[in-house]
Amino acid sequence: MKKKLSMIVLGTIFISYIVLLIASAINIRNIGLKGATEKALIAAELVKDGLTAHMVNGIMANRDYFLGQISNASHIDELWITRSPSVVEQFGVGLKNEISRDSIDTSVLENGKTFSDVFETTTETKLRVTLPYVASSSSNPNCLSCHDAKEGDVLGTISVIIDISDVKVNGIMTSAVVLVISLVMMFIVFIIISRSLSPLAVLFESITKVMGSAQEGDYSKRVILINNSQEYKNVTFWINSLLDKLQDTLMQIETTVKDFLAHQRSDEKDMLIELKDLIKEISDLHKFKKTIEFDEDKMQVYTRIGTVLEQRFDLHNFVLAEHDKRNSIGVQIVYGMQNDGCFTPNPQCRALRTKQVVNSEQFPNICEQCSQQSSHYLCIPFIVSSDIEILLHVDANTANEIAEIHKRLIGFENYINEARPEIVSKNLTEILRISSTTDGLTGLYNRKYLDEYIDKATAQAKRSKTNFGVLMIDIDYFKMVNDTYGHDIGDEVIRVLSKIMQNSIRESDIAFRFGGEEFLILLHQCTSDKAEEIAQKIRTTFEQQSIKPANAQAFSKTLSIGVSIFPDDADSLWKTIKYADISLYRAKESGRNKVVRFDTNFLQDGGVSTDF
Ligand code: GH3
Ligand code: MG
Ligand code: MG
Repeated sequence: MKKKLSMIVLGTIFISYIVLLIASAINIRNIGLKGATEKALIAAELVKDGLTAHMVNGIMANRDYFLGQISNASHIDELWITRSPSVVEQFGVGLKNEISRDSIDTSVLENGKTFSDVFETTTETKLRVTLPYVASSSSNPNCLSCHDAKEGDVLGTISVIIDISDVKVNGIMTSAVVLVISLVMMFIVFIIISRSLSPLAVLFESITKVMGSAQEGDYSKRVILINNSQEYKNVTFWINSLLDKLQDTLMQIETTVKDFLAHQRSDEKDMLIELKDLIKEISDLHKFKKTIEFDEDKMQVYTRIGTVLEQRFDLHNFVLAEHDKRNSIGVQIVYGMQNDGCFTPNPQCRALRTKQVVNSEQFPNICEQCSQQSSHYLCIPFIVSSDIEILLHVDANTANEIAEIHKRLIGFENYINEARPEIVSKNLTEILRISSTTDGLTGLYNRKYLDEYIDKATAQAKRSKTNFGVLMIDIDYFKMVNDTYGHDIGDEVIRVLSKIMQNSIRESDIAFRFGGEEFLILLHQCTSDKAEEIAQKIRTTFEQQSIKPANAQAFSKTLSIGVSIFPDDADSLWKTIKYADISLYRAKESGRNKVVRFDTNFLQDGGVSTDF
């Protein structure tokens, strides 16, 4: 930098000097030439006036002495006069053949214009001036009184040659002096400029380094103060305090922002870019949180998390599973390759059991179960609440891919943190909803749910012409079980029956606990024969089921079932249920342990109330 500046200064001074030198040499020469020309003209004029005086005094014959005197004057090399052809004709050629010597004389005699020019050889420089002597009646004496000439005729010329070689020498000498003075000046100027530029160059270099580091994300470097002058102090102070402010502010923002994120990748060196990424991450998390707040249930939240894994974390070969300790299902897949069968969730899964990340690259066959299905895998457990854990299982093709995915997933826990309260609250809402509509002992829908369901189902069934088979089921002599074996065994019998019922119906069918040991089944799109067949199947299965109390002999119980069909038997579902109940009563009445299909003859008393 310093070198570059010195070169620029030196170059500028040198060019200025050369221009100055040429200009001064030309000027000196012109001034010398002008002076010599004036001198020659004065000499010529002097000769003219002198000759006129000789003419007036009638001593023209003595002019040679006069001309000699003038010629001897310093620097006049030659002086001569010429006569015009008319004067030669009138007075002759004069003393020393005063006729035209050369073409310049002839030309001045012809046109009457003064000639002045410089003639240069390698050794000398000469100035030639030739002046016309013009006839005039107004001059004193009157030229026309003696000469046979007209006004304005050229009577003769006076030529002077002066040696002006010294003008050239003077020019060169002056230029040499200027050269020496300029060189000295140039040196002094260079020293002054480079002295004042040197700290500027050092400051510039320091600023360049500091700004270069800042550009690469390092805001810790500062400009060094190299000169105590106020300007340098100011520039150094302004830049450094600006960098101080920037660094402090960035650090404060970073600390504050990082409080919002439990987990973040820290491979970005530039704090400013890192902050931009952090703020983007917080913004994305905020959007995610706002979105899941309005999701209907936790399954929707899981779907949202799965989408984030796919889109934000670019994950594709993965499974998201939920382990709900309160749920009899245990671990269930909530997002991902459910049907591929490459990952079977299990509460005994190593990651869930140890609550630690399981990475296939940690140890050969680290998870026996996963190793059977994939060579490269990663299982990350996330604890949501005391009851719920989430497991993320990822499969990959190579060990490197696993390492890369693990690194990529660092920020994922932030999403789990945001989702945690939503999963917990939605889980609670679900538990509350299920517990209000299901029976705690059997897990079947309760009577309250039946009331809601029937209202909806009736309208729907009429619109879509759906028919229902209705089974009303009651355990025979159930009171005896309680009385003989106790209430707990009675509960067990109820549970056994509910299991048999659930196993005997399709998913589209629905079973309710209607009362104490009384159950209702609605068979969707079911014919009368099929309904009776299912009823018989339930009855016989239950009859064959043996119940073994701890301190007593095993026993079995029987069922009575009433069957009716909607809309074949009645135009409302409630009425159909009532008819099934009437049929059940018939079954009880006629000996129990049987299935009775509704018959209109049962309605001996006419109108039937739909109240229970
Ligand atoms: P029937 O053949 O006429 O139906 O005789 P039953 O003894 O079954 O008839 P009843 O309706 O008189 O008896 C029902 C009994 O079921 C009365 C009640 O103590 C018992 N019960 C109702 N709900 C439960 C329950 O949740 N658990 C147990 N253990 N017993 C229940
Ligand atoms: Mg009973
Ligand atoms: Mg009963």
